[in-house]
Amino acid sequence: MTAEIIDGKAFAAGLRARVGDVAAAFEAAAGRKAGLAVVLVGEDPASAVYVRSKGKATLAANMASFEHKLPADTDQATLIALVDRLNADGKVDGILVQLPLPKHLDEQAVLLRISPDKDVDGFHPVNAGRLATGMPGFVPCTPLGCLMLLKDQLGDLSGKEAVVIGRSNIVGKPMAALLTAASCTVTLAHSRTRDLPGHVSRADIVVAAVGRAGFVKGEWLKPGATVIDVGINRVDGALTGDVEFDSAASVAGAITPVPGGVGPMTIACLLRNTLVAAHRNAGIALDE
Ligand code: NDP
Repeated sequence: MTAEIIDGKAFAAGLRARVGDVAAAFEAAAGRKAGLAVVLVGEDPASAVYVRSKGKATLAANMASFEHKLPADTDQATLIALVDRLNADGKVDGILVQLPLPKHLDEQAVLLRISPDKDVDGFHPVNAGRLATGMPGFVPCTPLGCLMLLKDQLGDLSGKEAVVIGRSNIVGKPMAALLTAASCTVTLAHSRTRDLPGHVSRADIVVAAVGRAGFVKGEWLKPGATVIDVGINRVDGALTGDVEFDSAASVAGAITPVPGGVGPMTIACLLRNTLVAAHRNAGIALDE
């Protein structure tokens, strides 16, 4: 193995500590804590785990956590009414509705209802538009975390060839927008892409967000490339990424492991986005 392992867990711990310090200063200046509301509908065990860990991380970062747990048979009007209350609540800076919602609920309508200025997940089309046009807004947490790891690893990204595999609204598309804004030359690949290995072989940066275990092979990579593995796949009970780790690590210059790479960055970036929202809502300047 030749690649440097990018320690997302350590980077995320540092980011959370910095966010915690700034959140304490925010409380002193604003006379209240920055607040994140998390809405969970139903009993999905994985979602419950995510919500619990987000709540714990929020409190540990000197912020207020408001958890709203609704029964699985909650109707659309009740959920929309809760989002409206949270939009109007001055103690709530960020609102996150844990996905997936139970099938009878209209996910898109709920996400559209969240005020774009409290949309710390960055899923609202207004924030997607802000990202696409270079306006300040909220960037989805996972690609934001990937960008932070890349900048930490490589410094200035300008002029680099980047291939993003996957074009979802929550990872691939915003990742491509962030890399474009960082002056990379970006290829956004998906299931209809022809000769994916050929594209990947030219890339200085590869971000894999496909959802297929071990999909990206080491032999596709340009020697020395930086590889960011977003995938979270469960194989025989173990978590594994979208990149075939052993073969990739023998060619890449640096690579994120799964677990311990991108995953921990997502919650850290959620806290960071909430802190940014709090400063904007309170009219207090923040050096970003
Ligand atoms: P989606 O299923 O929404 O998107 C997958 C993308 O991969 C699609 O754009 C699809 O293309 C593309 N794709 C599928 N097959 C191929 C193929 N053979 N060749 C090229 N592209 C292909 O997934 P997400 O973006 O939501 O998530 C991707 C992965 O990242 C998952 O493993 C998920 O668990 C993980 N994830 C991890 C997070 C973290 O915190 N670390 C957060 C969010 C996601 P097409 O559009 O053409 O169908």
